[in-house]
Amino acid sequence: MKTNRIENLDDLFLEELGDLYNAENQLIKALPVMAQAAQSDKLKSAIEEHLEQTKNQANRLDEIFKDLGQKPQNIVCKAMQGLIEEGKEMINKSEKNPARDAAIIGSAQRVEHYEIAGYGTAKSHASLLGHKRVEELLAETLQEEKKANATLNEIAEGNINAEAKNCGCN
Ligand code: FE
Ligand code: ZN
Ligand code: FE
Ligand code: FE
Repeated sequence: MKTNRIENLDDLFLEELGDLYNAENQLIKALPVMAQAAQSDKLKSAIEEHLEQTKNQANRLDEIFKDLGQKPQNIVCKAMQGLIEEGKEMINKSEKNPARDAAIIGSAQRVEHYEIAGYGTAKSHASLLGHKRVEELLAETLQEEKKANATLNEIAEGNINAEAKNCGCN
């Protein structure tokens, strides 16, 4: 069997799911680091809550592969590697203060936007391919990613960005 050649939407769809699966698993390792680095309790618990959702999203992808009669593809998501790497750089350049929290939110929102794009595309492809149940599962995750992004936005605009602006600390 030839692997990794993308010749049609079925092949592309599996590739996309493999990429998302790997991205979620990278996040399961990275989100605790971000939560740990955050100063704001609100931000910390938002990230911890999304970590639990993220574990569930990885399980959902397991279910999706099973549904399709496929094994999870191991495709390294280089985009997520880069997003996580940049987030870590920001943390390493900062102290525990509102400026770092604002940076963590920016990094986390980049991650959510990437996931929203990935799941939006995969959901649309599932629909086209007639994978009804899989489409529903992808839609659930897509909603969670959108909600996570909105929550981060609220936290940033609620006070953290303003605190970072007024912060006199180094
Ligand atoms: Fe996710
Ligand atoms: Zn990806
Ligand atoms: Fe990717
Ligand atoms: Fe997410």
